[in-house]
Amino acid sequence: MSSESVKVAVRCRPFSERERDLDCQQVVSVDCSRGQCFIHKPGATEEPPKHFTFDGAYHMEHSTELIYNEVAYPLVEGVTEGYNGTIFAYGQTGSGKSFTMQGVADPPSQIGIIPRAFEHIFESVQCAENTKFLVRASYMEIYNEEIRDLLGADTKQKLELKEHPEKGVYVKALSMHTVHSVVECGSIMETGWSNRSVGYTLMNKDSSRSHSIFTIHMEICETDEQGKDHIRAGKLNLVDLAGSERQSKTGASGERLKEATKINLSLSALGNVISALVDGKCKHIPYRDSKLTRMLQDSLGGNTKTLMVACLSPADNNYDETLSTLRYANRAK
Ligand code: ADP
Repeated sequence: MSSESVKVAVRCRPFSERERDLDCQQVVSVDCSRGQCFIHKPGATEEPPKHFTFDGAYHMEHSTELIYNEVAYPLVEGVTEGYNGTIFAYGQTGSGKSFTMQGVADPPSQIGIIPRAFEHIFESVQCAENTKFLVRASYMEIYNEEIRDLLGADTKQKLELKEHPEKGVYVKALSMHTVHSVVECGSIMETGWSNRSVGYTLMNKDSSRSHSIFTIHMEICETDEQGKDHIRAGKLNLVDLAGSERQSKTGASGERLKEATKINLSLSALGNVISALVDGKCKHIPYRDSKLTRMLQDSLGGNTKTLMVACLSPADNNYDETLSTLRYANRAK
C-alpha cells in the first residue's frame, strides 16, 4: 500500500475561555508551509521543542474549509468514483474533534467536514451524466465493544459482527436508509446523534464515550455508449472517536473506568492497524483486535483512502495529552 492512502493532519484549536482565564501558556506551534508541528515542554525554555511532520498542519486561525480542500476533498472525490474512504478525528475531549467533523454554521468557513462531504457527494450526484446513483446511510455506535444501530427501530439492541466470504465483515441487521439530498442526510445524522450513549466525565460533561461511525454507501451505475451498465460501489466512513484522554485525568471509576479501558483498547488497536498499513512491510494487519478495526477492515488499507485529523489544545496544562496525540498521529503516517 502506498503511504499516499493514509494522510494525517494536525489541527490546533484556539485557546478556550477557561484556558485564557487560567493564564495558560501556548506550547503548540505550527509551520503550515512545511506541515510541521512543534511542542514546547512547559518550563523547559532551554530544551528545543519536539517537532513532528504531517501531511498538513493547521493552526488556530485556519478554517475547516481549508482543511477540507487540502486533505479531505481528494478522499471524498474517490468515494464518488467508487472507492472506500474513512475520515477520523482523534484527540482528547475538548480538543476540537466535533468542531472539525460537525462544525458550526457561522462563519461558513467553519462548516464541518461532515456537512461538506454531504454537499460534495450530492453535487457529484447532480452533475453526473449517464449515471444513476443510489445513496444510503447507516449509523452505528461502538460502546464498551458492543455495537448498536443509532438509526434502528431498537437502538438498545446489541448487533453482531459477521463475516461473509464475498461481502467481508458486516454488521448483521444494521439498518440502511436511502437519502436523496444533503438536508435528508443531515437530518438522519442528527437523529442518530441524539441516540448515542452519552457519558459524563470531568473534562467535558457531554463528551461521548463511544465511537460512532456514520457511513454513506454509494452505488454508482454508469451506462456506456453501447448502453451497457457498469456498477461500482464506494463508501465513506465518518468516524467520531471517543476522547483519547487517559483514565487518570478523567476521574473515572467503576463502570466509567471499564469503559475507558475499552476505549483505550480500541484506539490503540486502530493506531496499530494504521501504523502496520503505513509501514507496508507487515504481512499481518491486526484488524481483529477490536470491533472498530474489524468494522473498518474493508475501508482501511488496500484500495482505500484514510484521513486522520489529530486535534490539539494549544495550552500548557494539556501538554502530556497533546504530546501523546502527536505521537499517536506520528505513528499513523
Ligand atoms: P471535542 O469534540 O474534541 O470534545 P469540541 O469540538 O467540542 O471538542 O471543542 C471544544 C470547544 O472548543 C468547543 O467549544 C469548540 O467550539 C471549540 N473549538 C474547537 N476547535 C475550534 C477551532 N478550530 N476554532 C474555534 N473554536 C474551536
